[in-house]
Amino acid sequence: MPITRIAGILRDGQPETQLTARGWVRTRRDSKNGFSFIELNDGSCMKNLQIVVENTVPGYETSIRDVTTGASVSIEGTLKESPGKGQRIELHASSLTVLGVADAATYPLQKKGHSMEFLREIAHLRPRTNTFGAVARVRNCISWSIHNFFQTRGFLYLNTPIITTSDCEGAGEMFQVTTLDLAMLAKKQIDTIDWKQDFFGKPASLTVSGQLEAETYATAIGDCYTFGPTFRAENSNTTRHLAEFWMVEPEMPFYELPDNMDLAESFVKTIINDVLEKCPDDMAFFNERIDKTVLSKLENIRSKEFIRLPYTEAIEIITKSGKKFDYNVQWGSDLQTEHERFLTEEHFGQPVILFNYPRTLKPFYMRCNDDEKTVRAMDVLVPGVGEIIGGSQREERLDILVQRMHECHLNPDDYWWYTDLRRFGTVPHAGFGLGLERAVLLITGMTNIRDVIPFPRTPGHAEF
Ligand code: ATP
Ligand code: MN
Repeated sequence: MPITRIAGILRDGQPETQLTARGWVRTRRDSKNGFSFIELNDGSCMKNLQIVVENTVPGYETSIRDVTTGASVSIEGTLKESPGKGQRIELHASSLTVLGVADAATYPLQKKGHSMEFLREIAHLRPRTNTFGAVARVRNCISWSIHNFFQTRGFLYLNTPIITTSDCEGAGEMFQVTTLDLAMLAKKQIDTIDWKQDFFGKPASLTVSGQLEAETYATAIGDCYTFGPTFRAENSNTTRHLAEFWMVEPEMPFYELPDNMDLAESFVKTIINDVLEKCPDDMAFFNERIDKTVLSKLENIRSKEFIRLPYTEAIEIITKSGKKFDYNVQWGSDLQTEHERFLTEEHFGQPVILFNYPRTLKPFYMRCNDDEKTVRAMDVLVPGVGEIIGGSQREERLDILVQRMHECHLNPDDYWWYTDLRRFGTVPHAGFGLGLERAVLLITGMTNIRDVIPFPRTPGHAEF
């Protein structure tokens, strides 16, 4: 008998078709009239397959008591139109095999409505819940949509290194990578490290961004994007920061800041459209159970043009609003999440692209404006999340780039290959980074970033 996944059965299954379904039992109900109902889920979709097992089915007497919540089963049978409400079709079993039991006294997912905090402690089992199954499918759809967006526009998918010896942000929040025996060094009370003895012959870290390397390919092959894990040892315990997260970073030659904004805006809108089209059941679930406004929020985002607002005007709006914030801002201050959310949620009620930030707030590679005070940076802010994208036009002029490195206390010699790009055939170019998990937060309405990645890494937590 053909083995079919439940999403396909519920979508296309015709009465009288014989097939085998396999999955994990959500519930079992025994009727007094000599049969049992099983709700079976295999993760292919939100819905369960209803299965009717008569007590005359081979295996019933010996196996049915092992068909408990969490057990894995394989069931052969024939599809029938369902007389009950809630499903078009159901499976009438002709045989029943329990593949793996799940002891009712110890299986942790017995009742519904566990807290997110509890589920985080059983991250190996939480994908078996409705919420985490839906998050996994939507996250997958977003990843597919990201690749599809760039591939259909002729972008090259580039793999940039995970281990690096340059700090892209210059922020120093990097995880060091070493094969030196730290315990041994401590024992010998060595206080100066001889990096030549280390694996790469110099200090190395996990990457915080693939941008610098992506620029080398953008200025050779053309439009490209990286999409991979990035690591930041920022000790900020927030609901929007992870120590390990996935970032997609497109980089485009001959783009200036407005082109970069146009691409970012259609990128965000396309991802939303794709998820709404491909995951309607999961999205209906999020709208009903997680955030009752999520569908209308997404509709609002995809139907309106994003506001484009210079940083200087944003500061004016915030200071004139009369609203009390935890942090006061003036020209030159970094915006906190509270200010970003005020702008996008309260003041405008739609996404905002902030641009032309003070150069003192931004990394060395962003292009300086003629006012000598601001750089061509842009952040895309969305309701519910705040910053989802950060990007800029890059500084393509060698002399100014080198001057900015000095301002940022970086040694241009360490970036010799990066400055070479400005020495040989330099062009205007731009790019941005979108955090995958921030996109999942936006689209699902989930509120904690720890719940939209399978195994979150945060300060003090790297279990599983
Ligand atoms: P934030 O101000 O929110 O800390 P950032 O300015 O440090 O972010 P960028 O360096 O501009 O972020 O990175 C680009 C994108 O990567 C951000 O817009 C965000 O979507 C995502 N991102 C950055 N840091 C993290 C993190 N620690 N965890 C998850 N996503 C992140
Ligand atoms: Mn940023």
